[in-house]
This record gives sequence, structure tokens and C-alpha cells, in this order.
Amino acid sequence: MIDYHVHTSLCNHATGTMEEYVQAAVEKKLKTLCFLDHLTFQKAGRHNAMDPRQVPGYVDEARRLRRTYRDRIDVRVGLEVDFSPRYVDRSIETVDALDLDVVGGSVHFLDGEDVVSRRSAWFRGELDSDWVYQAYLATLESMLDYDYFDVVCHMDLPKKYGIRPSSPAMEGFVRVLEKIRQKDRVVELNTSGFHCPIEEAFPSPELLGQCARLGIPVTFGSDAHAPETVGRDFERARDLLKAAGYRHLTEFRHRRRETLAI
Ligand SMILES: [Zn+2]
Ligand SMILES: [Zn+2]
Repeated sequence: MIDYHVHTSLCNHATGTMEEYVQAAVEKKLKTLCFLDHLTFQKAGRHNAMDPRQVPGYVDEARRLRRTYRDRIDVRVGLEVDFSPRYVDRSIETVDALDLDVVGGSVHFLDGEDVVSRRSAWFRGELDSDWVYQAYLATLESMLDYDYFDVVCHMDLPKKYGIRPSSPAMEGFVRVLEKIRQKDRVVELNTSGFHCPIEEAFPSPELLGQCARLGIPVTFGSDAHAPETVGRDFERARDLLKAAGYRHLTEFRHRRRETLAI
């Protein structure tokens, strides 16, 4: 079992120290645990992410834990980088200066507006769903013009609160998948969606099947925000992957890919 997407108390909206996550992962007998804490330069998201000045200390702590626990688990470290066309240069500069195992690319904000949190207008039902999906897809497509990340995180995220993409939006996701394949990126199967109103992983089984048909590699992440949810739903994820036709998961070490049979 592996988990390539966990947060820590450094992002101010998750609980648990990095060591507590590692201990929880050892107890659950995970083969690999990869930290993927938030990095954002968006004003609206700063209180929910690490201060960029904390990032080198975070990477050092992950490397210390890797050495301490090396006979029990493989600890790796990356960042979930929030995409914004405005701050992309700073994101690239930060990522390039670090020795990371993996970089995730995420879209959480549209026009500076949070579409993820329970404080958002999207959660309150105040945004037009066609606008949200079209703006989200356009942002995702423009993220794919850059090469600083390895994995597309929770790709159909706007469905989180229960509104699924309309059929034109689904066509948009398929277009995005074709671009993901062209750019040779990995898609994350993120099971946090099971615990949201939509009660479905990101991406949906339909999009995951499309990923498999296109030969896009997939990794797994729980998106845990507490140590007790590390590795959560891995079995469910494995069933979804097998149903879609996958036999392997992708892991990362120093930004290079490794495959693991499931
Ligand atoms: Zn995220
Ligand atoms: Zn996350």
C-alpha cells in the first residue's frame, strides 16, 4: 500500500506532525508515504498553506524521517502546488530550488475565488455550475502548458459538493486527458471524494476508464488531513483501478517514476 498525498499541521488546516503521519503509516504497514503539503501564493489561500519560507524545513524534516524510519517505511516528500497563472513563476522558482520526489499540480482557486472550502460561494450554491466547470477546465488546461509538476491532483474537483459535470464539461475533461497524455503527466486517484457530498473518488470511474484507455499512468493519494486517515480507502482505490484495467501504480523518487504492481 502506498499513499502519495498527505497533509500535515504545517498547512494550518490539517492535524498531526509529520512524524505522527509516518508512525500512522508504519502501523498501517504502508510501503511508501509521501508528504504532499500545500504551496500557494494566492492571497485567499495563504492561511491554508505553508509559508513558503517553511518549505526547506519541511523537506529537511521529511528527509530526517526517511533516515529514521528507513527499515520500516519509505518516506518521500513533495508539494501540492496550487496553480495560478499569476504566481506560476514563483511556484517554478520554489520547486526548482528543492530536492523533491514529486510535485502535484492542483487547481483550487478560480479568479482568486476558492472553490474547495466549505466557506466558498460554490459550497453555498451561489455560483453557476457551467461557469465553475468551464473556468476550472480552462485553468487546468493552462496549468498543463507548464512542466513543473508530475501529477494532476483530484482532476474533477468541482464535483466535490455534489454537482457533477454536464456533458459539455465531461467533453472538456476528456480533452484535458488528451493533453495530459501528450504532456506525459500522471493522474492521481484521490479517494477524499468518498468522504465529500459527492461520495465518489477523483476522478470518476468514467474518467479513470478514459485514463486507462489513453495509457495515462496513475498514482494513489488519500489526501489525508489527519494521521488516522493515512492510506484510507486504498482497497477501494485498488478495486477501481483494476476495474478500469490498471495493473500498476506509479511512484516517484527524485522526480523519476517507478512502477508498483497492484
Ligand atoms: Zn488539493
Ligand atoms: Zn491535498
